[in-house]
Amino acid sequence: MQAFLLPCRCGADISVTSSQAGGRATCPVCGGVEPVPRLRDLEKLRVVKTPPPSRRDSGAGRPWTGMHSLVLAGTLLAATAGLGSFSFTPPEAELFDEDTIRSSVMKAPIDEVYTAWATRLIYSSVERMPTELEAKSRARSDYYYNLRNSLRAAAGMGALVALTGVVGVLARGKANGR
Ligand SMILES: [Zn+2]
Repeated sequence: MQAFLLPCRCGADISVTSSQAGGRATCPVCGGVEPVPRLRDLEKLRVVKTPPPSRRDSGAGRPWTGMHSLVLAGTLLAATAGLGSFSFTPPEAELFDEDTIRSSVMKAPIDEVYTAWATRLIYSSVERMPTELEAKSRARSDYYYNLRNSLRAAAGMGALVALTGVVGVLARGKANGR
């Protein structure tokens, strides 16, 4: 808001704003009360170049709010989790070809092969159960894929939190600036 200099009878200037037009202002030097001109005449007075000190103070030492903490925490989380999710490539599950399976079957003791056949293959006419190595490989692959998805979700959450904080800070700044 624009401020004007109202000359006091003591010679000092009283800083008044347009909201005080038509009212009264107290001189900070002599303590006398001076009538403030109406808005039309007020604008003929000299204009204060800098905003009044009370307003400047509220803008300068803006306090660290919870919203600022949200921005910081969210940004850190998004950066850490985001970088983490790109720091590795989940291994693809290895599916072994027939030769590998046949050779491992040939190497295994015959009773083990029979047990495997009896407990697994007998229940599936076409689809074969994954071998132990395949299952391990798949579990390992799934683990890293899940880890990467979790990190990405965390990064997304962090970004959302940071964004909420930014909106909060901006809304607050707008309220202060009024
Ligand atoms: Zn005065």
